[in-house]
Amino acid sequence: LPELPEVETVRRDLLRLYAGHRLKSLSVSGRRTVRRHSPEQLGALREKILLSVGRHGKYLVFFWEGGPSLVAHLRMSGQLLAASPGDPVAPHTHAVFSFDGAGELRFVDPRTFGELFLSTPAAAPPMASSPSALPELAHLGPDALMATARDLSCALAGRHAPLKALLVDQRVIAGIGNIYADEICWKARLRPDRPGGSLDQADLRRLVRATRSVLLAAIAARGSTLADRRYRDLGGSAGAYQLEHRVYGRAGLPCAGCGRPVERLRWGAKSAYVCGSCQA
Ligand SMILES: [Zn+2]
Repeated sequence: LPELPEVETVRRDLLRLYAGHRLKSLSVSGRRTVRRHSPEQLGALREKILLSVGRHGKYLVFFWEGGPSLVAHLRMSGQLLAASPGDPVAPHTHAVFSFDGAGELRFVDPRTFGELFLSTPAAAPPMASSPSALPELAHLGPDALMATARDLSCALAGRHAPLKALLVDQRVIAGIGNIYADEICWKARLRPDRPGGSLDQADLRRLVRATRSVLLAAIAARGSTLADRRYRDLGGSAGAYQLEHRVYGRAGLPCAGCGRPVERLRWGAKSAYVCGSCQA
C-alpha cells in the first residue's frame, strides 16, 4: 500500500514528465476506477495543459489550466506508469492519458480499489491550487510532512487508542500507513501500543522530528518496495528504502539501536514491530 514517500516520489516524477504539456486524449475503460461519475465527464480535461501536481497525504491532485482538478488515490494496488504510445498495454490498465509531446500516463490497478475523480476547489485563487481546498479531501488531517507538535498535541490529547492506530488514521495525520508508523515510532523511541494521549511535550517533539526525518529519508530512497513488488515508480522501478527499515518486517532480527531482537506486537487485527528496550 503506497504511503506518503511512495506517492511523493510519483508526484515528483509526474511533475518532471508531464507539467506544461497539453492533454490530447484520454480513455477510461475501468468503471470502478472512475466510480464517482461517468468516464465521459473526465473528457472535461481534454485539451487542458497540466500546470502542476500536488499531494495531500496519499492523494495526488493534478491542476490544469482552467477546469476541475483531477484527484488520484492509488490505495491497495494502483500504479501510475509512464509509457510510449506503442508500448504493450499491461493487464488491468483502466485509464490512459495521452499528452502532447510527453507520451502516455497509464493507471493500472489489479484490485480496483484505487480511483480517479474530478474535484473543484471550494476556495478562490490562490488557495485553489492547494489540495486542501478540495472538499473531497477536507476530512484529512494535516499532511504528515507539515504536521506540527501543536497539531499532534491537539489530535492526540485524551485519546486512549494506541499511538500507531492514531498515526495511521488519515483524519489525525495524513500520509502514514503500516510501514512508516512502525519506523517513526522506533525513531521517536515511543511504543506504538501506548495510548496516544499519554505523550508529553518532549515525546510530541520527538515524534514530529522522527516523522519528518523518516519520511524525508524514504523519499530520498524513492520509497519502499516490499516482497510483493507492488509499489513501482512511474518508470516501473522499485524503491530502496526497504533496505533501511529498522523494525518493520524484522521480527527476531537484531534492533539497529541495541541489538536485541525486534518483536511483533499484536492487538486485535492490528500489529506493530517494536524494540522493547529502545521504545517506551
Ligand atoms: Zn533496540
